[in-house]
Amino acid sequence: MSDVPSKPMPGGEAGSALDAVIVGAGFAGLYMLHRLRGLGFSARVYEAASGVGGTWFWNRYPGARCDVESMQYSYSFSAELEQEWQWSERYASQPEILRYLNHVAERFDLKRDIQFETRVTAATFDEIANRWTIQTDRGDRVSAKFCIMATGCLSAAKVPDFRALETFQGKWYRTGHWPHEGVDFTGQRVGVIGTGSSGIQSIPIIAGQASHLFVFQRTPNFSVPAHNGPLSPDVIQDWREHRAEYRHRDRTSAFGIHIEQNTKSALEVSSEERQSQYEKRWERGGFSLVGAFADLILNKEANDTAAEFVRSQIRAIVRDPAVAETLAPRDFPLATKRICVDTGYYATFNHDNVTLIDARATPIEEITATGLRTSKAEYTLDSIVFATGFDAMTGALCNIDIRGRAGAALKERWSGGPRTYLGIMVAGFPNLFTITGPGSPSVLSNMVLSIEQHVDWIADCLAYLREHRIANIEATVNAENEWGAHVNQVANFTLFPQANSWYMGANIPGKPRVFMPYIGGVGVYRQKCDEIAADGYEGFALSPPGS
Ligand code: FAD
Ligand code: NAP
Repeated sequence: MSDVPSKPMPGGEAGSALDAVIVGAGFAGLYMLHRLRGLGFSARVYEAASGVGGTWFWNRYPGARCDVESMQYSYSFSAELEQEWQWSERYASQPEILRYLNHVAERFDLKRDIQFETRVTAATFDEIANRWTIQTDRGDRVSAKFCIMATGCLSAAKVPDFRALETFQGKWYRTGHWPHEGVDFTGQRVGVIGTGSSGIQSIPIIAGQASHLFVFQRTPNFSVPAHNGPLSPDVIQDWREHRAEYRHRDRTSAFGIHIEQNTKSALEVSSEERQSQYEKRWERGGFSLVGAFADLILNKEANDTAAEFVRSQIRAIVRDPAVAETLAPRDFPLATKRICVDTGYYATFNHDNVTLIDARATPIEEITATGLRTSKAEYTLDSIVFATGFDAMTGALCNIDIRGRAGAALKERWSGGPRTYLGIMVAGFPNLFTITGPGSPSVLSNMVLSIEQHVDWIADCLAYLREHRIANIEATVNAENEWGAHVNQVANFTLFPQANSWYMGANIPGKPRVFMPYIGGVGVYRQKCDEIAADGYEGFALSPPGS
């Protein structure tokens, strides 16, 4: 395969033929570049941001940190990297994760093959040349044998669609596009719209600065305490000694993280035992609650016991009973939307300078010059924070004009919901890969672990194609249909489809309601992917050159 000079220049012509173009320089794009280089492929990354980091470049809002523990939410591919990098907290903050990703980029000398501030606008498959042409907003037109989308599941932040936003005379911000210089809300009247993980992480910090904070909550979420704090030397030492064992444990688990999983049903134990399990796990913090019983995401009655436990915790923390009731989630089963992991969220509503507004009972009608108006009242605000989420999983892909065989557009192919084989490839789009694409565990897992699994699978696949002189790999329609049916079947076996979640596309008006991630578990999924590769890429059509 070709060898291409590094140091890409913006606006370059397609004369330079690359083996692969990678779109995105977050966890996925960085590791993909590293793997391809190691195999001797030429690759170039295009990244819209001015630096590496993806999620951790863009989401600089106050309080942003991971909800998977730092030791697990990090690359495992290099033992040396793991030994030399030391996380400071149980849940690392956004600045620390961004420093880590910059360290990785520098340590493995990745930046020389990344073209920043360049958005890929189109990718077109040329059936005669058997190559992809990738176009960017800087005028690049580059030809590559493989096109690898590392565009992220949560990178297309929703644009606020509130009426009359343009008339607002104060400042407004999106959590997913936070200003690099930071924002000081001291002395301001601030409105936060949205109470997903981003809202829940930022609200306590903004409340600490603002003269008054108004939280506009449409749907309350389940949130559990992080109990964040410095990582003790013992924990660090233990991880260092057992990293291989712990990484193996996580790779073969359900969600790619270590949760002590109880194998009993919530309904088979006494109410005292149930309460004691829940309390123990609330004390432990993080996602541990989800493992309290084996049937929490399978059986509504079992789930209700855990949901009621969280509601009782909210009532115990929040002093005003009416506010506690408004904060108590009732619309969907626990864990069928990603559980939020917070620091002091519910207690924030005990502060005199914080007001909770039920934006379902009294919807936001419009933004005004001086603030916003709900169906009941008008609020004067200096700043508004939109923590309103993302066009998840398909948004970043559909924002690119991706055309496969016969000029077919991916966006149209997915008009009824995304269709993929393993979440890695799409029928009719040869040699195009999607890292953590819809139909893979992706957002239902520790994403760094799932990213590494996809990157390794794709890298091994490209090496196999080269070794066997295969020009094209493409998912068959049959395999895609069967995989789609399997993804649905497994989802329908759980309570997940009962929630109006972004997993279902329910947060974007008009988006088809399809459960997008694969809930079969990362261990099971990895095994399937490995078996398929070992069977000569079963379900994929492989074609020799010239066919
Ligand atoms: P991203 O980090 O999203 O990177 C994709 C990159 O592609 C972006 O930089 C984007 O600019 C670029 N891009 C997209 N389209 C184009 C284009 N057309 N042209 C050029 N560039 C493009 N997951 C967890 O497992 N645990 C967590 O604790 C966790 N915390 C999170 C916190 C926040 C605030 C958010 C929003 C998400 C969180 N996630 C978490 C999910 C997180 O997105 C993943 O863990 C991970 O960072 C994704 O890495 P990625 O490289 O796949 O995608
Ligand atoms: P989100 O979970 O989709 O939450 C968006 C919030 O905005 C919801 O409360 C939603 O209410 C509200 N909203 C949207 N449009 C609205 C409108 N027009 N009027 C009023 N309210 C509106 O988005 P997110 O908080 O950014 O989180 C997305 C995902 O990113 C998370 O689930 C998680 O996977 C990841 N993340 C993780 C962390 C972490 O802890 N590490 C932090 C941030 C994000 P409705 O529910 O009623 O629609």
